[in-house]
Amino acid sequence: MPTATGRHFLQIPGPTNVPDRVLRAIDRPTIDHRGPEFQALGHAVLDGMKAIFKTKGMVVIYPASGTGAWEAALVNTLSPGDRVLMAETGHFATLWQRLAKRLGLEVEFMSGDWRRGAPAGAIGARLAEDKAHAIKAVCVVHNETSTGVASNVAAVRKAIDGAHHPALFMVDTISSLASLDYRHDEWGVDVTVAGSQKGLMLPPGLSFNAISAKALKAQEQAKLPRAYWDWADMATPNKSGFFPYTPATNLLYGLKEAIAMLLEEGLDAVFARHARLGEATRRAVQAWGLELLCVDPAEYSNSLTAVLMPSGFDADRFRQIVLENFDMSLGQGLGKVSGKVFRIGHLGGFNELMLMGTLSGVEMGLHLAGVPHRQAGVAAAMDFLAGRIEGTAKAGKSAAE
Ligand SMILES: *Cc1c(COP(=O)(O)O)cnc(C)c1O
Repeated sequence: MPTATGRHFLQIPGPTNVPDRVLRAIDRPTIDHRGPEFQALGHAVLDGMKAIFKTKGMVVIYPASGTGAWEAALVNTLSPGDRVLMAETGHFATLWQRLAKRLGLEVEFMSGDWRRGAPAGAIGARLAEDKAHAIKAVCVVHNETSTGVASNVAAVRKAIDGAHHPALFMVDTISSLASLDYRHDEWGVDVTVAGSQKGLMLPPGLSFNAISAKALKAQEQAKLPRAYWDWADMATPNKSGFFPYTPATNLLYGLKEAIAMLLEEGLDAVFARHARLGEATRRAVQAWGLELLCVDPAEYSNSLTAVLMPSGFDADRFRQIVLENFDMSLGQGLGKVSGKVFRIGHLGGFNELMLMGTLSGVEMGLHLAGVPHRQAGVAAAMDFLAGRIEGTAKAGKSAAE
């Protein structure tokens, strides 16, 4: 490999690029996690995350990857043999249902073709049939990171309500929180699962549950074994800004900074930025003449784009060519779509020119890999971002001002 100079382009859909401000914040001495200085930090991050989840309820922070927070959501609320309804949106939904089965839950996994979001209508119909209320929870991945498809969480909530069903509603927002609009309280979500290394712009290592009053109540009856993940152990120390065991102190410094950055930009502006960069990416893909994995424009993910390789071309060989020539990492195809798709991450600490560098690397890589395409994607993205197309100008300064 040639010696890399300048910044590596980390364009996988998580872990994402960590902004310099966050790196500087983490680069400080570790402090006593039972001392007064820590207490202020603990309060700041626990309160700050409520604003990000849009909840007034309880939030817990684990020193764990997102998978730990998946497990925490289930073991705190359910009992052995409980039935849960999950939707096969892609690789991450498949992993969550496998974890649920390993814990001794009875999973009904609604099959999907990995090109669409969770089917709210079918979920509602299944719940309406379940007159005995055997189904205890509905679990949905908001943004399926393996496919670039975003499910309509509010529609699933409506479907649960329409069926007058008491099941808990759990949502994985690991690759959507702080990138796509998300409202824990307003959408009546009982447990939201999140991780640090995607929209939150941190290194991997933290994960989160946002918890409704109904989920806390379910915890009193839940009989799945739990120890490390027990919300109850967090509740009392968290009230005074502390943790029941050693927290990931330096990642919490970073989290405090990341929350400050998100709130300074404004969550609506953060979502609009992701929408703009997502749209520019999709226009590039279409101009190259390649196919998006997501089939429904209403479900396009604004945090990543999964692109189908023309048949006969290996997506992983293409990604390797991009890495070797341009020092850029693109996301690999996972599970069923391994070798068939590559993924462009456009979430987190990311902007227009980083996207244009990314798309240039993809376009040059397509050429080097001999993949048939039109050399028009970068230009299409620029046309969009520069406002050269009617109605696409970025809010703010324009040349006419
Ligand atoms: C990344 C991701 C996960 C897995 O999180 P880890 O931190 O790797 O355990 C789960 N769900 C979704 C939607 C993800 O994007």
